[in-house]
Amino acid sequence: MSIRVRFAPSPTGYLHVGGARTALFNWLLARREGGRFLLRIEDTDRNRSSQEMVDAILEGMSWLGLDWDEGPFFQGEGVERHRADALRLLAEGKAYRDFTAPEELARIREEDPDGATRYPRRQAEALAPGEAEERAAAGEPHAIRFLVPDHRVVEFDDRVHGRTRFPAEAIEDLVILRADGSPTYNLAVVSDDAFMNITLVMRGDDHLSNTPKQILLYEALGYPVPEFAHLPLILGPDGKRLSKRHGATAVGDYEGQGILPEAMVNFLALLGWSPGTDQEVMSRSELVAAFSLDRVVKKSAVFDAEKLRWLNGQHLNRMDGVALASLVLDHLEAGLREPAEAAMETDPAGFGAILDLLITRARSVDDVAMKLRPYLVEEIVYDPGAVKKHWAKRPDEAAGHLEALRERLQGLEPGEWTEARLEEELRGLAEERGIGAGKLIHPLRVALVGEAVSPGIFEVLVAMGPDRSLARMAAGVQWIRRQVAGNA
Ligand code: GLU
Repeated sequence: MSIRVRFAPSPTGYLHVGGARTALFNWLLARREGGRFLLRIEDTDRNRSSQEMVDAILEGMSWLGLDWDEGPFFQGEGVERHRADALRLLAEGKAYRDFTAPEELARIREEDPDGATRYPRRQAEALAPGEAEERAAAGEPHAIRFLVPDHRVVEFDDRVHGRTRFPAEAIEDLVILRADGSPTYNLAVVSDDAFMNITLVMRGDDHLSNTPKQILLYEALGYPVPEFAHLPLILGPDGKRLSKRHGATAVGDYEGQGILPEAMVNFLALLGWSPGTDQEVMSRSELVAAFSLDRVVKKSAVFDAEKLRWLNGQHLNRMDGVALASLVLDHLEAGLREPAEAAMETDPAGFGAILDLLITRARSVDDVAMKLRPYLVEEIVYDPGAVKKHWAKRPDEAAGHLEALRERLQGLEPGEWTEARLEEELRGLAEERGIGAGKLIHPLRVALVGEAVSPGIFEVLVAMGPDRSLARMAAGVQWIRRQVAGNA
């Protein structure tokens, strides 16, 4: 039988990094093995679940490209089946009615934590024959507890942790149906996974202690026990469990920051798994081809935001021009969208060349969107730090060099506006003036892009073209002279 796996998020928050990683590993395995991937929303905690969170989870999954083959199912729709399973256990003597008041149990737990494990069972055993049924029939509130078999060691082969053992003595008789008639998580999950014919339950390590309870429930209900794989915890860089303190943890936040879904998928895949080679940058199809549970590690994974940004840069560079352009458009601020669309329409090759240039150093779509400004608008803003460093120290000199360079470049024919020729002219002028090339390049960069850093200056000149470059240089000279005059 081909595998059937599932992702079963509780919609009590956005799709966070840990959940997305669980979803991805299940998806990868299903795709790798030609199995089925199910999505089940565990919405039984009505107070903490909301439609908004359900939507956010579905959106997050779609953004990551994790398509599911069946579902979304909603756990709340299966409540009658869960109840029927609990009542069947009761009828078969594998569960019992527990009339212990919650306050009483809390008190016992405090006084004698070890003794409390079997306290409700002892209370139930002390009842006269038929008493439990009578009290239940009279409407007295009570929970239904699963009778954990004694003298058992629950053993299973976890696909990540290997042979795992839990002595049943330590497991309390868990509530399966609350006094209000609602099923608890462990019962609902077993009932659903059995009903949906799940063959492998893959989820976070935090569920490891639930697994022996669930195995006992499968056995008691006569359902086949699936396999289990528990994925390692994800830690922040400080070694503590990843949380909001470490910055964004919702997958949607990364979308807003210009992270590509391909990069996020690649990054998540490496949280607890590795392909066993040096390759780190991997496409979705490469991941599907390489994925296997054998290479999932037990050790906690560390969330490294810098690595995510690096991977994002790598994936940005692999993107084709048209797709990149439309993505960048989406991330542009309002005023820039129109000139960008115009540039794309009138000179698609030129616009593509600018994107190519910016993408090389970028780590997010936002980086590109931000750096695009000087190539799109007439007026640019000069960064005060760049002005101070490269213009203001010796303003006359900077303006003089810039002006001389402008005059020289102005003489070039359009066909001569190439990187090689521009470099030759600039270096020639530097030599004539007896200065290092940097004395021309730095002030020029501030004039062209308003900042002290940019891609290679000759590439920038080519990407901007002669008209805009020369106009920028003239504007720079004017600006410096006005400042000098203003300060005199
Ligand atoms: N709904 C549970 C959670 O979000 C997951 C249950 C499971 O995977 O078994 O933690």
